[in-house]
Amino acid sequence: MLQVQALKKQFRMDGREVPILDIPEWRIEKGENVAITGPSGSGKSTLLHLISGILRADSGRISVNGQPLHELSEAGRDAFRAATIGYVLQDFHLIPSLTARQNVEMAMTFRKPPKEKKALIDSWLERVGLQDRGQFLPSQLSRGQQQRVAIIRALVNEPPLLLADEPTGSLDWETADGIAELLLELSVSQGHTLLVVTHDLNMASRFPKCLNIQDVNRVRRASAAMQTTGRTTREEVLL
Ligand code: ADP
Ligand code: MG
Repeated sequence: MLQVQALKKQFRMDGREVPILDIPEWRIEKGENVAITGPSGSGKSTLLHLISGILRADSGRISVNGQPLHELSEAGRDAFRAATIGYVLQDFHLIPSLTARQNVEMAMTFRKPPKEKKALIDSWLERVGLQDRGQFLPSQLSRGQQQRVAIIRALVNEPPLLLADEPTGSLDWETADGIAELLLELSVSQGHTLLVVTHDLNMASRFPKCLNIQDVNRVRRASAAMQTTGRTTREEVLL
């Protein structure tokens, strides 16, 4: 489902180029459920932006679902993302003026008669335990419920790959547990591949495959060295 080779990405910070990612080789097979952990600033979101084609790599190759991303234009990557990837974010990003049901409907890219769309949304709401919340606005839902709506929205077009960036980052631990369970359960029943990045080790440990970003990324944060040398600016070193 995902193949990464010799991937490099750096950002310009304080007037100089800082390496963020250097991944010699990494892959995820179709149907795998993978969690990647790493502290804040370790490049987790950047990695998901590269996999989804929001950002371009400086060098190297990423293939998703058999499609090498470097062969696509920006418009091509947008179309690829719409067809291939569902995205769940920490802060849900639901449209506040639309109900739960309308938020899901807005995301549907396929043509179907309204009746069929309604039945499909009903079945999704039921699967995530929100059958009686379809007419609620996001502000009338708990944070965990909002995340459930965001998960439906990400999956309603049945993308082969679901990416989740800190999906439990703004939830209390009990709610977070429920969301992790739901993500895993839906991945098994829908058959998509699931990649979650998180700094929450408890959430990550629930996944059948759990990696630290340093298992794949050769860029290390020089935090310990910075502390002992008394430097205050943030730096990265390449080991
Ligand atoms: P994480 O998601 O693990 O917290 P990020 O991928 O968001 O980490 O960021 C990794 C590093 O790259 C951070 O130091 C961040 O400040 C930097 N960074 C991220 N995006 C940009 C950008 N567009 N321009 C410059 N620096 C960036
Ligand atoms: Mg992040």
